[in-house]
Amino acid sequence: MKICLDAGHYGKYNQSPCNGAYYESDMVWKLHLMLKKRLEEYGVTVITTRPNQETNRELYDRGAASAGCGLFLSLHSNAVGSGRNDSIDYPAAYCAINHSADDIATKLAACVEAVMQTKQEGRIEHIKGKNGDYYGVVRGATAVGTPGLILEHSFHTNARSTAWLMDDGNLERMAQAEADVIALHYGLTKQQRPAGWYEDDKGWWYQHEDGTYPKGCWEWLREATGGTEGWYLFDDAGYMLTGAQIAPDGRMYYLCETPGIHEGQCMVTNDQGALRIAEYDFDRRRYKL
Ligand SMILES: [Zn+2]
Repeated sequence: MKICLDAGHYGKYNQSPCNGAYYESDMVWKLHLMLKKRLEEYGVTVITTRPNQETNRELYDRGAASAGCGLFLSLHSNAVGSGRNDSIDYPAAYCAINHSADDIATKLAACVEAVMQTKQEGRIEHIKGKNGDYYGVVRGATAVGTPGLILEHSFHTNARSTAWLMDDGNLERMAQAEADVIALHYGLTKQQRPAGWYEDDKGWWYQHEDGTYPKGCWEWLREATGGTEGWYLFDDAGYMLTGAQIAPDGRMYYLCETPGIHEGQCMVTNDQGALRIAEYDFDRRRYKL
């Protein structure tokens, strides 16, 4: 499935009267990138309407950029009047007047209500203009056959909602919840990572096809880029070990510490005592010394 995400405004736009540090354009830029990442975990191809937050682009063109997508979603926070108003906080989805986005919009409005714990209920609305849909982005999406909606994440004229939307942890939870709702609606499931080596800030680990990974043991594996093979030792958390390490057999091994194709591979010493990567003798099933 392909989805088009639209950060509702560019630059620094729609400052909150409750907190001068809040701009709707900042919030939706962050949220749409978080949502993109979460949707991609479900195997969705996500396109966005702006290369960066500074780029202005016509409303209609942003909607029409969704050609070939199954959904166009424009992210916003709402405003009422010109000052602070703490009594209004309902999440709203403004949907295409052809009703093509009503089902997913109803679920997303309810999702925002549940995650933000707004006092007022989420709702969907349809607003007709002179040439079809009142909202340009929705009109553009409809023109290319994409079900389109604008999703308002409560009101930045509401102090509580504004404070909530300024917390990045809250936005991460919102993005996850919206991705889950979209995935459930369209019957998408998370894709298993392919077997192979993976790295994070703690180190390397190897994931098998069934999602399991070696931990607290040796495993014979093929290295990712150079294609060389060797025994690798993993700690109890599953991270590849390097340097001098006591293996489960109680003996000490020296595992290459140099980042690159030999990292983690067994090292032996030559006749002068210099370390080198051990070559494996497949016939005798042991390292050549
Ligand atoms: Zn907006």
